[in-house]
Amino acid sequence: MDITDSDALRCLRRVFGYDAFRGEQQEIIEHVVGGGDALVLMPTGGGKSLCYQIPALVRPGVGIVVSPLIALMQDQVDALRALGVRAGFLNSTQDPDERRMVEAEFLAGELDLLYLAPERLRVEATLRLLDRGKISLFAIDEAHCVAQWGHDFRPDYLALSMLHERWPDVPRIALTATATEATRKEIAARLQLDGARHFVASFDRPNIQYRIVPKNEPKRQLLELLRTEHAGDAGVVYCLSRKGVEDTAAFLVQSGIDALPYHAGLDAATRAAHQSRFLREDGIVMVATIAFGMGIDKPDVRFVAHLDLPKSVEGYYQETGRAGRDGQPSTAWLAYGLQDVVQQRKLIDGSEGDDAHRRRLAAHLEAMLALCETVECRRVQLLAYFGQPSGPCGNCDTCLTPPVTWDGTVAAQKFLSAVLRLARERRQKFGAGQIIDILLGKKTAKVIQHDHDALTVFGIGTELGTAEWRGVVRQLLARGLLAVEGEYGTLVLTEASGDVLGSRRQVLLRREPEKPVRSAGAARS
Ligand code: ADP
Ligand code: ZN
Repeated sequence: MDITDSDALRCLRRVFGYDAFRGEQQEIIEHVVGGGDALVLMPTGGGKSLCYQIPALVRPGVGIVVSPLIALMQDQVDALRALGVRAGFLNSTQDPDERRMVEAEFLAGELDLLYLAPERLRVEATLRLLDRGKISLFAIDEAHCVAQWGHDFRPDYLALSMLHERWPDVPRIALTATATEATRKEIAARLQLDGARHFVASFDRPNIQYRIVPKNEPKRQLLELLRTEHAGDAGVVYCLSRKGVEDTAAFLVQSGIDALPYHAGLDAATRAAHQSRFLREDGIVMVATIAFGMGIDKPDVRFVAHLDLPKSVEGYYQETGRAGRDGQPSTAWLAYGLQDVVQQRKLIDGSEGDDAHRRRLAAHLEAMLALCETVECRRVQLLAYFGQPSGPCGNCDTCLTPPVTWDGTVAAQKFLSAVLRLARERRQKFGAGQIIDILLGKKTAKVIQHDHDALTVFGIGTELGTAEWRGVVRQLLARGLLAVEGEYGTLVLTEASGDVLGSRRQVLLRREPEKPVRSAGAARS
C-alpha cells in the first residue's frame, strides 16, 4: 500500500465514517489522486461522489465540481460542512455578497471543494478567478449532459471542453449514471478525455424488481400496488405532465396516502418544502415530473412507479435507480398503454430541432417500447442496452411469470388489412380505437357515420377482446410493423408491414395478462 492510498482510506474513515471502499472506488480515487483523468460510469447510488470528494481532500488545492443540480448545491454543501469538509458553491441563486465571500475563501485556499453550475464557466470572470487559485481537480458530474445523443443534453456543458485547454495539468474526472456505448464515446470526445481511464461499474441493481404492466386504470392500478405491497413506504411516482402530477397526487391524498406533488410549475418554496419533507419524513410518496430526483440521495425509497411511458431507456433506468439505494428489495413499476405510444409520437413529430434530432428521439422511444414488449428477462434487456451481457435474473415480472406467447400472425394481418382499407379514405384519419371497433363489428355512431360497417374487414376480429387488440397494436408498433403519424395518431403501415400481410413473416405476440378483477367504474384501456 503506498502513501496516497492510505491517505485515501484514512480520509474515508475519518471524514466520511465508512470502513471500506465499495466496488471500484479505491482504484478510481487512486488514479485521480495520482493525477490521471477518469470517466466513471456507475449506477445511481453506486457511490460516485466519494470518487472526486476524497481526491479533492487528498490533493493540494480546491476541487472544482461542475454540476447542473443548482437546487441541490446548498444541501450538498451543508452535508459536507457537517462532516467538516470546507465546501462552497457559486451559482445564480446567490446574491453578490455571498458570491464574493465564497470567492474570497477560494482565493485564500480555505476551500476543499467548490461546486459550480456549468453556466458559471461561460463567464470570463469565473475563469479568471479560477486562474488565481490552486485547483486540485475538475469533477464533471452528470457528464451525460454533454452528449447530444443522450437524453438530457445541456448546451452549457459543451463549454467544458475548454477546461482541458486552459488547465492541461489539472486532472479531470467525469461521472455519470447513464451511458450507453454511444453516449460514453460522445462524452469522451466532447470533453477531450482522450487519455482518460474508463471505469465502468456493473449497472445491475439486483434488489430492484422490474415490472411493466399494461395500463388500463392507471390511478387504481397504482393505488393497488401501494396498498398491497408498499403500505407506508416512501416512493416516487412519475407522470409526464404537471396536470398528471396534480391529479394523481390529489387522488392518492383522497385515498389516504401521504402524497405530495412536485413539478416545475410549483413555486420554488413549495418545491423545496416538498422535497425536504420527502427526504426527512418517513413514508412520503412524491408524485412528480422528471424535474424531481436527480441528485436526491434517499436510501430507503422502496418503489418508483411510472404512470406514463418514459422517453428513453436511459431516463427510465436513471429514474428507477432512485429506488433501493440501501440495497433492500424495491420495486420499479411501469404502467404503459397504447395511448402513450401515440402521445410520444406526437411529441416527437412536433418537437423542435432538425430531422437528426427527431430520429434520435424516435430511436429512444423504440428502445423503450422494445423493453416494454419483450418476452425475455427485463434486466437482461436493460443491461444489454448498457452494453453488459447477463443471464435471466429471476427478479423481474417476465422471469417470475413468463409471458405466454401466441402466434398473432393472423390477428396482425387482420389489423394491418383494416389499416390499409382505411388508408384508402384519404380525407379521414383514424386511430386504433376506430379500427378495433370495426374489427369487433361494433356499430358505433362513428362506424355508421363513415360506412365502416360496409368494409370487408368489419366484424372479422371477434376472436379477441378490446384489451387484446390494443395489446396487438402496441406490439406491432413496438416492432415497427405499424407506425403512428400526425396530430390525430393516425396508424400507417411501414415497409415491414408488407412482409406480414404477404405471410412472409410470422408474428409472435405476448398474451395480455388477465385483467385485474375489479369492479371500478371508469374503465379505460
Ligand atoms: P451516486 O452519486 O453514485 O448516486 P452517492 O455518491 O450519492 O451515489 O452515494 C450513494 C450512497 O452511498 C450515499 O449515501 C453514500 O454516502 C453511500 N456510500 C458511498 N460510498 C460508500 C462506502 N464506501 N461505504 C459506505 N457507504 C457509501
Ligand atoms: Zn428477469
